[in-house]
Amino acid sequence: MSTQLRLDALRGSGVIAKPHNARTIAALTRNPGCTRRAVMDAAGVDKDKTAAATGHPASIGKLSPLAVARGQGFEARVKSQGGAELLRLLRENLGLPIPQAHYLDLGGDDDSVIGGRYLRSRSALAASADSGPDAGTLFDHPMLRLQIAGVWVYLEPDMVAFRLEDKFYIIEIKSFAIVDGVADPGDVTRAAIQSSVYVLALRNLLADAGHDPNLVADQVILVCPKDFSNQPTAHFVDVRKQLTVLRRQLARMADIDRLLDSLPDGVTFDLAPDAHGLPTRSAADLAHALRSVEARYAPECLSACELALFCRHDAHDAHSTAALGRTVREELGGVDCTSTAVALGTGTLVPTDDLVQAAETLRAAHALRTAILGQLA
Ligand code: SF4
Repeated sequence: MSTQLRLDALRGSGVIAKPHNARTIAALTRNPGCTRRAVMDAAGVDKDKTAAATGHPASIGKLSPLAVARGQGFEARVKSQGGAELLRLLRENLGLPIPQAHYLDLGGDDDSVIGGRYLRSRSALAASADSGPDAGTLFDHPMLRLQIAGVWVYLEPDMVAFRLEDKFYIIEIKSFAIVDGVADPGDVTRAAIQSSVYVLALRNLLADAGHDPNLVADQVILVCPKDFSNQPTAHFVDVRKQLTVLRRQLARMADIDRLLDSLPDGVTFDLAPDAHGLPTRSAADLAHALRSVEARYAPECLSACELALFCRHDAHDAHSTAALGRTVREELGGVDCTSTAVALGTGTLVPTDDLVQAAETLRAAHALRTAILGQLA
């Protein structure tokens, strides 16, 4: 059976694949070792609906209309007057020597033809790459693309790519605040991962146009509100680490056949919807199908995957140490179950050779806990 037919069967007959965007591609990198997520995303399964059908609806927060409106207002402000405000920021905040810059809006009347906008973006950015290093240009509404499991996904960076001293920069506008030069680390990490998707897509575009992909900087420019005002501020964010993880995960999804080969015969996440689109498949049967595909739950899933509550429930039921977080999983490599960890820490279980180091860590933690409790008593 072809790869596409296998993915269609996983999703369910007649169900349209859920399209990716930069946010969902970025989320792929949050737990790259999870086969369950990789195959479901490759097949375009609607994980939101799947989670709800198991009785564990998605916990990932959706932005309120007010937050969306605030974000749009801030972005419009940064982009206003042909990017004049942005140019000021780049000069004053980042010290970039930009005497002047052109502003080119790559959106247009034919925006419904996404492929056409991609071609227009490619030719404009390639022309800029061909020009002299002082030809600064702000590109608004560019269209990029990436291939995910054999399917082209079109992406629109929040803002523009900018040529500066022989480099293109992705500029990412976010509405979370940077207070006294510091932002919430989780927000910055999410922005960096999403920006790395655009960096990779822009590199592919330049390569597609016959240019050196390394013309795209591996630092992005993050623009956010400053302190508690609506004034923008700009900072460089290094996305090299995120690019490495992203490339690895995309390669894994490109080799989706190998993951599909590891699945049990006939497994499907089909919800068997009725005429009104409501699932007719039982929650137990669907949960059984999900459990037949290996998952690697970690607390990070809670902010990155719609299935997090389902997987967390299973991980807790299995007393999995992985549910305690990556640090614990790495420290306790080979100790999969919390009851084993307790037995090793309290000395009621003699460790095998491969668990000696983990047992030492656990015994030290147990001794520390006992000492602290003794002082509190
Ligand atoms: S929530 Fe479950 S399916 Fe999603 S990434 Fe985590 S372990 Fe994988």
